[in-house]
Amino acid sequence: MTDTLIHISDIHQDGAATIANPRLAEAYRSSTVRLFTHRLSAIAEVPGFDRLRDLGRELKRQTIENLDFYLGQFADSVERNGGKVHWASDGAEVCRIVVDIVQKSAAQEVVKAKTMVGEEVELNHALDAAGIRAVETDLGEFIIQLAGERPAHIVAPAIHKTREEVADLFEEHVDPRRTLVPEELTAIARTALREMFQKAGVGVSGANFAVAETGTVVTIENEGNIRMCTTVPRVHIALVGIEKLIPRLSDLGIFLRLLGRSGTGQKLTTYTSLLTGPRREHEDGPEQMHVVLVDNGRIKSLADPKMREMLYCIRCGACLNTCPVYRKIGGHAYGGVYSGPIGALVTPEFTGIGNARELPFASSLCGACREVCPVKINIPDLLLHLRSEAQNHAPQKSGGLVSERLTFRMWAWAMRNPTAYKLGARLARLVQLLVARKGWIHKIPAYPASRWTKERDFPALAPQSFRERWKKM
Ligand code: SF4
Repeated sequence: MTDTLIHISDIHQDGAATIANPRLAEAYRSSTVRLFTHRLSAIAEVPGFDRLRDLGRELKRQTIENLDFYLGQFADSVERNGGKVHWASDGAEVCRIVVDIVQKSAAQEVVKAKTMVGEEVELNHALDAAGIRAVETDLGEFIIQLAGERPAHIVAPAIHKTREEVADLFEEHVDPRRTLVPEELTAIARTALREMFQKAGVGVSGANFAVAETGTVVTIENEGNIRMCTTVPRVHIALVGIEKLIPRLSDLGIFLRLLGRSGTGQKLTTYTSLLTGPRREHEDGPEQMHVVLVDNGRIKSLADPKMREMLYCIRCGACLNTCPVYRKIGGHAYGGVYSGPIGALVTPEFTGIGNARELPFASSLCGACREVCPVKINIPDLLLHLRSEAQNHAPQKSGGLVSERLTFRMWAWAMRNPTAYKLGARLARLVQLLVARKGWIHKIPAYPASRWTKERDFPALAPQSFRERWKKM
């Protein structure tokens, strides 16, 4: 893994910056509400959608529990079909493999379809360092590549960009004729990308699923660019996280129905491509197909019986769209390439909890993510698990953390001592007389509670405790 993989800065600071920016705040609000509403309508059309989720979960569970078997089967099937399998243990190895394939093919240019693994390992930087030009061809990824940013959402990377900002970027980098008409902006991108598809010697894609039985890489999309990336250049490289495996082709229908509806509210995305080996005689397609199977932290999660469930994720983005925290602070505040509730699990797992110890706390634990997850991952439970891991990996000198620990130790002690609890509650009620007004505390002067009242009011303690009222009754 390279040092540059993660850019965890200050989630509080970056989140506050999003909240303070009315344009950004509205972009996140309106887009997530739209995707959330589309999902609701789409799943309402399917009787027994919940049963479908159970089936998807069970299939994922079985696959992840037997991943060694399915990985072996998949690798054999790919090779049997004429493809070449590469195993990469970390991000640096993924980059080395891809750069090597591109250099051997003597290509100067690479077209890339949307791949979160590619983002995760910062493939574009590695290609750039090797003197190879890489162009993103997914419209959202194309936009953020021009802007020099990371994706703000798993399925909608440019969710935070307005039409005006896209027009500015296109005017500066692609075509000087400025337009604000969405169709014309899309046409500008299409013209620029068509040329790249024809020129590029290598196409790099991700994979939504990888079918062990047949060695098939499955990609889904709405724009058609993945199909171009994977079929027009002479060489196709698919970056496949090892958790993308599904056992059989007959299982695919379940996941396609779950993914489209949960992610964007579509019955099916516009294009579903099943790529099974390079071209054969009298067929179109790439001359070579390489599949890079990527670990980069996944095997560590697989070895942890608690966190293993995280690997069921099919990257639909539904948990982001429903999460009250993501909706407010936006994708970039999470620091890594994955954001929202699943990002708060994946980033600490893949990069080490010490690099991202704030992320599991970026949740109200309301459970909305678990409610919408098509494979029913118990995200709040996993976040709680990571929170305790984070405490174990905390820097000992952190002032905030020491006071936090002390507060919770005192709290735990008081909860176990009825007399102390009773006295503490009485004392707190007395002290709050200084700051409480009409049932609310608007400002707590002492840190760390002052951080809470900086943004919102705190409910005052009731004048009588439950025990006291109970006694009277
Ligand atoms: S955790 Fe569930 S809801 Fe979130 S992206 Fe993954 S599959 Fe979708």
